[in-house]
Amino acid sequence: MIAILKNGTTDEQTAHLVSWLKQMNLDVHISKGAEMTVLGLIGDTSRVDMELLSSLEIVSSVKRVSEPFKQANRKFHPNDSIIQIGNVKIGGGYFAMIAGPCSVESEEQIIEVAQAVKESGANILRGGAFKPRTSPYAFQGMKEAGIRLLLKAKEATGLPIVTEIMNISALDLFTDVDIIQVGARNMQNFDLLKELGKTDKPILLKRGLANTLQELLMSVEYIMSEGNENVILCERGIRTFETYTRNTLDLSAVSVLHELSHLPVVVDPSHATGKSRLVPPMAMAATAAGADGIMVEVHNNPSCALCDGAQSLTPAQFDDLSHRIRKVREAIV
Ligand code: PEP
Ligand code: MN
Repeated sequence: MIAILKNGTTDEQTAHLVSWLKQMNLDVHISKGAEMTVLGLIGDTSRVDMELLSSLEIVSSVKRVSEPFKQANRKFHPNDSIIQIGNVKIGGGYFAMIAGPCSVESEEQIIEVAQAVKESGANILRGGAFKPRTSPYAFQGMKEAGIRLLLKAKEATGLPIVTEIMNISALDLFTDVDIIQVGARNMQNFDLLKELGKTDKPILLKRGLANTLQELLMSVEYIMSEGNENVILCERGIRTFETYTRNTLDLSAVSVLHELSHLPVVVDPSHATGKSRLVPPMAMAATAAGADGIMVEVHNNPSCALCDGAQSLTPAQFDDLSHRIRKVREAIV
């Protein structure tokens, strides 16, 4: 980090600032020119409050020259991380095909969808039990009963399951869940992230509706700095001025996140587009862009789905997509 001091700053003021910075365990390199003084801050600058430093009367500007995220940073971990979930691996060339309904609705529904997606090559089953809905009057999910049904589907198919947690008080219900999802709306629920960091469960962290990639990686730090290194990132579209699609799929996120971080990146084209016909092309594009997996909503009867029917594929459509994904993967190796 570099801090440029204003013209006219006295030696005494500079020394005062330097001693304050040194108290944060930083080495400070002072370069005094005719026009201005530049301070080079060396060490772990992640704890430096840039806004506070910039607001000081003698400081003209502050620039970061290294990223504030450490544990997720590829610079400190050059090889791709591979996250292991039972027999399934994600990252470093291992591809996750995550499929299932938006919400668990009944035993028949989740078992039928689980069997169908498995048959088509999915290696992880998704399904929401706790649903973060925009309206409090909309279906909120089957909650504990939904988790029990997911576990039945896991037993019936052998597929590991991923489901969303909304509140840490529900953590006990997730003991047999293979991957805990943190949804877009909770990406910056820092208390939740910290508690999940104390577990050893793989966490699927979705990008917030209006969050930058750096913010996503800072949220990862909340999990990893508590000791849990099993994090999978998920791009699920962001809010833009475009209203034709539910969100705007930021596919460049795949390459940027791979550049910045060693963690696997999964793309969710269902929530990104909101329209089932747009899901296959975006899933294929994500695969071609080098995503480590896709997460797709599949329902046995989308028109009757209690949540997100419009963006859900039928099992037959998912089957067709998974063949095409395989071909894209073969084409890009
Ligand atoms: C979901 O995956 O069920 C979900 C609610 O997605 P998001 O958090 O991305 O909106
Ligand atoms: Mn959904």
